[in-house]
Amino acid sequence: MPTQSAPSPLITMDNVSKSFGALQVLKGITLAVNRSEVVCLIGPSGSGKSTLLRCINFLEPYDAGEVRIEGRLVGYTESFPRRRQSNRELRDLRRNVGMVFQHFNLWPHMTALENVREALVQVRKMSLAQATARAEEVLTRVGLSDRMHVHPARLSGGQQQRVAIARVVAMEPHVMLFDEPTSALDPELVGEVLQVMRDLATEGMTMVVVTHEMGFAANVADRVAFLDGGRIVACGPPRAVFHESPEPRLRQFLQTYH
Ligand code: ADP
Ligand code: MG
Repeated sequence: MPTQSAPSPLITMDNVSKSFGALQVLKGITLAVNRSEVVCLIGPSGSGKSTLLRCINFLEPYDAGEVRIEGRLVGYTESFPRRRQSNRELRDLRRNVGMVFQHFNLWPHMTALENVREALVQVRKMSLAQATARAEEVLTRVGLSDRMHVHPARLSGGQQQRVAIARVVAMEPHVMLFDEPTSALDPELVGEVLQVMRDLATEGMTMVVVTHEMGFAANVADRVAFLDGGRIVACGPPRAVFHESPEPRLRQFLQTYH
């Protein structure tokens, strides 16, 4: 009988720690994210959610422990412990990791289409025709087929964030990291962005999402991790975390959402 191999995690964080000066912000984070899994990170402001996310692609260097993406050590060379990877090695690793921020960071002088197309041409070296076709396809997927030739200033916040997501999706990352993607939006625009994220999840995208949208976490996440004081204090399926965990800090945190 062939043995069924266990799913290999796409991201593993093993006992990752990180300090800013004397302030220890991550205190031994251990977390594995499987392929096609959606993990939501929740927790109070200052608990280390953004730092955790940024350590995954080494936007923040971590001090101890290790992060691997698809088995490859992130940030440090395998053969020389704690020696930093070259920029080229890091760039290579980050090719497969897309990141979406709270502030959309679009180029103001470019249309939606040009924003999505830019890295396809400059980084992926696609022809202009190929890149245009890809950008049109992805913008259509996020519901912006009629807004492709508009500049960001003339788009709503929700539309701008959908362009930012399209720009990442167009690069065909293996995993997407979201840091509070709806926190800068007016409440009536949050839903359209969450819907795009939900569609990505349904299509099998691996996602790590820092969010305060508890409904999204409850309905879309495979697992929810609650961070407090730089530690993952509770982690599991949404139902277990939201309804069954007795952890007092989590209960207190969730009360602020009712
Ligand atoms: P969260 O995203 O959960 O709000 P962060 O990861 O942004 O938390 O921050 C965790 C802690 O680390 C906070 O106390 C914050 O002030 C501190 N911090 C974050 N980034 C830096 C930095 N670049 N330099 C110094 N302190 C930082
Ligand atoms: Mg943050």
